Amino acid sequence: MKIGVTYRRAEKVVRYERALRDVGLDPIRLPPDASVDIDLLDGLMLTGGTDINPARYGQPRDPRAEAPDDPRDEMELRVVKQALVADFPVFAICRGMQLFNVAHGGTLIQHLPSSDLHSQKFPDAEPGKHGPAHRIAIAPGTRLASIVGAGEIEINSRHHQAVDRPGPSLVVSAVSTDGVIEAIENPSATFAIAVQWHPEDRILVSAADRKLFEAFAKAVSLHRTNVLQHR
Ligand code: MN
Repeated sequence: MKIGVTYRRAEKVVRYERALRDVGLDPIRLPPDASVDIDLLDGLMLTGGTDINPARYGQPRDPRAEAPDDPRDEMELRVVKQALVADFPVFAICRGMQLFNVAHGGTLIQHLPSSDLHSQKFPDAEPGKHGPAHRIAIAPGTRLASIVGAGEIEINSRHHQAVDRPGPSLVVSAVSTDGVIEAIENPSATFAIAVQWHPEDRILVSAADRKLFEAFAKAVSLHRTNVLQHR
């Protein structure tokens, strides 16, 4: 099952690819200049990277925000909207969650005042075995809770922006202990889940992070079965 994986820098996409293969999925690289036909894919993963151009959500750029990557913003917004229309499984991580929120009409915090708590580095960590950074509370009744359970879990953290106002059709499914939105989901989609942390870096040590990837693989498999039945 082919998963389109958006990215800008090749050295950054490897860890997502490794985690996807670990749950039996086949990553297909989608750089910003890719011409994407989602009919040839079974799922979409939006990955980490630089800050989204705040013009996309109608704000001037805070000087502490990074230089925009307009070709990447453009391509990812186009593809995620196509995926949502087709009810195609979407799993968004870090910048991917921010993009997912902007695609739903939400806004971002351009510079987190508490970013120290959220900017853990991993100079020596083994792939898939990174340590935790902070705790989050998962909201009961959400799709995320149905996958990893409600209550608190430990996650890693490597971001300096975050969701501010969630898109009107979205549900907040996890919040950090200092009040930062850490996961959102589209409740009308079969699987459209976005997380602010990096589950791909803890898939070998965190049961919750592994369950997230396994749930994505299951959703992709069901989607493929449905598509084949309706052909
Ligand atoms: Mn965080």
